[in-house]
Amino acid sequence: MSGRILIIDTVATNRIVLKVKMLSAQFSVDACSSRIEAEAIIATNRPDLILINLSDPVEDRHAFCQALRQDPQTASIAIIAVGVADTSRARFAALDAGADDVLPRPMNDTLLMARIRSLLRVRSATEELMLRDGTSRALGFEEARASFETAANVALLAPIETDHPRFRTILQAGLSVPVRVLDTNAVLRTANVQPIPDLFVIDATQVETQQAKLFGLVSDLRSRTETRLSTLLIIVPDGMPEVAAMFLDLGADDIVVAITSEGELTLRAKALVRRKLLHDRLRDTVRDGLQAAVTDPLTGLYNRRYAEPHLARMADQARKADRDFAVMMMDIDHFKSINDTYGHAAGDRVLVQLAERLRENLRTIDLVARVGGEEFLVALPRTTTAQAHATANRLRRLVNCRPFDLGEEEPELRVTVSVGVAVSHQNGLPEEEPRAVCDKADAALYAAKSAGRDQVAMSRSAA
Ligand code: GH3
Ligand code: MG
Ligand code: MG
Repeated sequence: MSGRILIIDTVATNRIVLKVKMLSAQFSVDACSSRIEAEAIIATNRPDLILINLSDPVEDRHAFCQALRQDPQTASIAIIAVGVADTSRARFAALDAGADDVLPRPMNDTLLMARIRSLLRVRSATEELMLRDGTSRALGFEEARASFETAANVALLAPIETDHPRFRTILQAGLSVPVRVLDTNAVLRTANVQPIPDLFVIDATQVETQQAKLFGLVSDLRSRTETRLSTLLIIVPDGMPEVAAMFLDLGADDIVVAITSEGELTLRAKALVRRKLLHDRLRDTVRDGLQAAVTDPLTGLYNRRYAEPHLARMADQARKADRDFAVMMMDIDHFKSINDTYGHAAGDRVLVQLAERLRENLRTIDLVARVGGEEFLVALPRTTTAQAHATANRLRRLVNCRPFDLGEEEPELRVTVSVGVAVSHQNGLPEEEPRAVCDKADAALYAAKSAGRDQVAMSRSAA
């Protein structure tokens, strides 16, 4: 795994030992002893992960971690606190300052490496989502979103024998949400855990007798489609760093040792819930952004960016099924004079109403897109020349039969369209690129305009 690691420690030997370990694991490494040096390195050579000695009394390292967390530029850098006294109070303070994990000395190397891998994995997922979110924003899709104060859904997986799972009360109080208790065996048997938890807390305190089952459970939850995006926190017994490392490598998001403070358990659970909700929100924004990127905001129809690859797929399917598909280009007649006479807003109303008429009168498998100012593309899969001709005429009449509403102040207006139609001929003839079919429909549209408008023209080769 590649990644850049920054080691911050005042003791030179500590820095050297860690640096050698990180270099041998193929990471790029910077090391320094003070906050000032660290800030300079972060500014020029941003690390993915920081190993910081939080036992150092020389500087206020906690404040430094907090500052990193608060700055959006550095907030996603993973932080592991090392050298901390192995007391729950010291661990809690480090986590509370913003460290993702605390590894007291002497460090278990297997656990350290597993923890680094796990944190880098999460970090790259977060950064990717942030990047896409940033792209959506740059494209201008920064619509007001509902706040994401969604109540988190938390489940505790415990062995069935436990009547009153000891961690449930702690989690409920700490997270202020109800915590469902699920039987580990039942979850292993059925993939269908509804509603899907944002966080699974797995009581693995009996891992010694159930190792294979619990390892299987973690990798299973990680790989199932339903629970793939849930976060996993594993409660492990004290003194089993190799087992903890294994859980992390199997895809657990975090590990907490059973004997640590209640505060630490809920702090870690809270951090995972927060991260899950953040990732959900980012994913939603990306989806909304993508939706917006392929939709025409005025009419709600797809735009050209969507239509082109969609047509390519339609052509591909037509080829495989040995069926024809048809393309119509439709253009409003004398639209410029509507704008000139009644104003641009009236023109917009015509576009919106026309889009509605088209949408309501086509099959769900058909594609309608606005591909120009007053130009629409309709693509009809599995359609013969005769059917395409009939459909085009039906749509044309649907426009000219009923006047358009231009608003209270204005009279209703009769609008007409011209339509050019081309059909792909798969049967026995050379395969046609969708673009060629569109060009033919365009040429037919031109013919319909020349012939006097308010009519349908078939592409000659399709006739
Ligand atoms: P033809 O019958 O030959 O198609 O004539 P036309 O007037 O419809 O065609 P022309 O291409 O000359 O004019 C199209 C007009 O459509 C010009 C442009 O200002 C207008 N238009 C393009 N997009 C929009 C839009 O989003 N809203 C409004 N109201 N008008 C638009
Ligand atoms: Mg026109
Ligand atoms: Mg036009």
